[in-house]
Amino acid sequence: MSNTLQAIRGMNDILPEQMPAWHFVEDTLREVLSSYGYREIRMPIVEKTELFKRSIGEVTDIVEKEMYTFTDRNGDSLTLRPEGTASCVRACIQHGLINNQVQRLWYTGPMFRHERPQKGRYRQFYQVGVEVFGLEGPDIDAELLVMTARFWKRLGLRDVSLQLNSLGTVEARAAFREALVAYLRERFEELDTDSQRRLETNPLRILDSKNPEVQALLNDAPQLSDYIDEASRAHFDALRALLDAAGVEYRINPRLVRGLDYYGRTVFEWVTDKLGAQGTVCAGGRYDALVEYLGGRPTPAVGFAMGLERLIALLENQRAAFPDGAPQLYLVAMGEVAQREGLLLAESLRDALPWLRIQTHCGGGSFKSQFKKADRSGAHYALVLGEDEVARREAGLKPLRERSEQQTVAFDALAAHLQQLFGADAA
Ligand code: ATP
Ligand code: MG
Repeated sequence: MSNTLQAIRGMNDILPEQMPAWHFVEDTLREVLSSYGYREIRMPIVEKTELFKRSIGEVTDIVEKEMYTFTDRNGDSLTLRPEGTASCVRACIQHGLINNQVQRLWYTGPMFRHERPQKGRYRQFYQVGVEVFGLEGPDIDAELLVMTARFWKRLGLRDVSLQLNSLGTVEARAAFREALVAYLRERFEELDTDSQRRLETNPLRILDSKNPEVQALLNDAPQLSDYIDEASRAHFDALRALLDAAGVEYRINPRLVRGLDYYGRTVFEWVTDKLGAQGTVCAGGRYDALVEYLGGRPTPAVGFAMGLERLIALLENQRAAFPDGAPQLYLVAMGEVAQREGLLLAESLRDALPWLRIQTHCGGGSFKSQFKKADRSGAHYALVLGEDEVARREAGLKPLRERSEQQTVAFDALAAHLQQLFGADAA
């Protein structure tokens, strides 16, 4: 075993038996997104390193220590994307998608961060991300939040709750930062080393320190909410009124600041206490400054990203089963003639019934061993062909999941018969 090759730590295979849960989540999210008028965009997995340095910020955890950065054969510094917002903004500017027009976009795919792998925290993980460009009002923030609430409803996901905060404008935050730094400088010795370092680089991050002693120290610290500018406060109040009207519950968390530099005004996280320390399943907020910062025209923007591994882990705790896509029919064929006829019969059924999931047995073997495989495939019925059946142009139809008799159906009548049998879940 020791010299067989293994996947890289923190980068997981997603095996066929896990796919039903993934498909259920991906299909449901896609359906809800398109019902709100969001369109998919796909960006490359690799970008110039500078894009992430500029957009995410040099002093964030991601850029300081989590990026997979390498030099390619041309000597360019490239990075496996740690998140999707930067690439999405880059693509929108590059293709003129946000010149005087609103865009509601979403994307999905793997992201890469060199973190310490643990449950819910991987080095390759999947996100579904959503970004809206060109709208600055609280109405679109509310739309995103009611849409996320609808995701959970459609997925049947319980035990998530919404935390909300407003960061105000860049200027308001700068004034708060100064007051916070002054307060914490006086208590420098009481901070842990991580927070001492952040005091110099990214002091707002200290607010979401996981260390209880640091959190206790913050109880008497200056409050961000006291520094919020009037316009941001009105924006936040209007958002809250919309959420109240829509019946979306939330808790204001004054220490929610998010890890990324480019946020302003609304920030939010959907969290659960059922996944241990990795409890955030969806996080986002408003980033009105980023598009201009990356060279586009000033364009308000708001978005969020969901970690699919965490969503699926939570959902698997709550649901016994997912639609599994097992074949409806497994074709068992005995002898060379029946095998050839079976191949043709299956093709003609796929022509007639495009929704039908029919798996044909390959590799020969006795009826007994073929039936064993039919059973293991999860199929509902076996379609049985021997030389006699072929001669009579008919097939046996044997239920595999219930005790009832095998029927015989003429080749000509099979498509209509199967339509009757599976019609309800054909669509
Ligand atoms: P955390 O505080 O857990 O590190 P983050 O603030 O770094 O999260 P974001 O950059 O906001 O996370 O990413 C959005 C979502 O992507 C997270 O809420 C989480 O669900 C998921 N996510 C982030 N990093 C990972 C990871 N290493 N493994 C799995 N999922 C992740
Ligand atoms: Mg992180």
